[in-house]
Amino acid sequence: MEAQLPLNTEGKPIQCKAAVCRDSGEPLVIEDVVVAPPMSGEARIRIICTSLCHSDLTFWKAKGPRGLFPRILGHEAVGVVESVGEDVSEVKKGDMVIPVFMAECLECVDCKSKKSNLCSNVPFRMSGFMPRHESSRFTDLSGETIHHFLFVSSFSQYTVVDVVHLTKISDPSSLPPNRACLLSCGVSTGVGAAWKTAEVEAGSTVAIFGLGSIGLAVAEGARLCGAAKIIGVDLNPQKFEIGKKFGLTDFVNPGECGDKPVSQVIKEMTDGGADYCFECVGMASLVHEAYASCRKGWGKTIVVGVDQLGSNLTFSSGEVLTSGKCIMGSLFGGLKPKSHIPILLKRYIDKELQLDDFVTHEMELEDINRAFDLLQAGQCLRCVIWMDKKF
Ligand code: NAD
Ligand code: ZN
Repeated sequence: MEAQLPLNTEGKPIQCKAAVCRDSGEPLVIEDVVVAPPMSGEARIRIICTSLCHSDLTFWKAKGPRGLFPRILGHEAVGVVESVGEDVSEVKKGDMVIPVFMAECLECVDCKSKKSNLCSNVPFRMSGFMPRHESSRFTDLSGETIHHFLFVSSFSQYTVVDVVHLTKISDPSSLPPNRACLLSCGVSTGVGAAWKTAEVEAGSTVAIFGLGSIGLAVAEGARLCGAAKIIGVDLNPQKFEIGKKFGLTDFVNPGECGDKPVSQVIKEMTDGGADYCFECVGMASLVHEAYASCRKGWGKTIVVGVDQLGSNLTFSSGEVLTSGKCIMGSLFGGLKPKSHIPILLKRYIDKELQLDDFVTHEMELEDINRAFDLLQAGQCLRCVIWMDKKF
């Protein structure tokens, strides 16, 4: 991929197009923004492709403490480094990089442990600013500050990302940008949830609640781990046909279960409960259903979906005690971005991991609101947005 970066922008503000979310649920506005040069520990990135994830929809609609506007959303992307701030040696101008909402500082106890991807030096949190300097690099043409999103903000032709959130792709020719962006959030999250968080074993049974890109990537991950039965649960019956490409073997439509709870249907299909259940929608009631669908003794329920703020789970302590089941959360599929994205990339190059079928639509930045409509209506998996069109 040729990086056509404009000359002599280093150290200067760049004016470019971005899709700005001005208020909760309002169509994004394509407007000129000013992107300040990177500060120490940061890199300014020219975004090549970005794709839309359900988490963007959640924060686009958010009101209250999660609704921070104006804001530049987008967190699934790939780009090229335009310039770097002081003390940055890990990436340089022209490098192809994948930004990820999770950091990997490589130094803290968690980054050094095999058991966790929750960096302690730069912990996951909701913020409208850069992680290291607690300030924004975006302003609009009237000088008003625009907030960041998940430390990525990729719905802009240029963005600034802290180097702890960047993974360098050493051989850019191995991965087209409209596939690379999928490794930045959705596909990595789903595959990682099966591979790293659940550690799905060959021959096991899996149930996945919600068959968007995340749920289907869980299926793909479970398939790669050798699962024998992969049951998808979705209200949209079209998802079964689509899901077969990613290894789904069975399908349950909650609307067609009559009086039986979905968990009862899954227990019957798996002779007592699935070994691994994944919630990939973001609803407490589905987490309970997933937990109820798990096998006693060793069943694991993995929470992947992002629920409304303040939502709670309630379990009977007696049931937790006697069932022996476990429930775990999984951010970015338990993956450490810098360590594990290259492994997924290798599996894509080796034609083991599928990325192509996740991309159902491709469009230009000016059509981004159509991508929001398609994802809300359940009519797409991933819409890839190409950012480099000259306006
Ligand atoms: P999506 O909108 O593409 O897919 C959601 C799917 O859930 C759709 O197929 C829909 O039909 C189905 N669904 C909705 N309600 C349902 C119900 N009651 N029962 C069964 N199925 C139902 O979303 P996505 O991009 O795949 O994201 C899925 C979830 O994962 C979101 O909550 C998103 O925020 C979250 N997410 C989490 C992480 C993480 O790190 N943990 C990363 C990315 C996304
Ligand atoms: Zn995401």
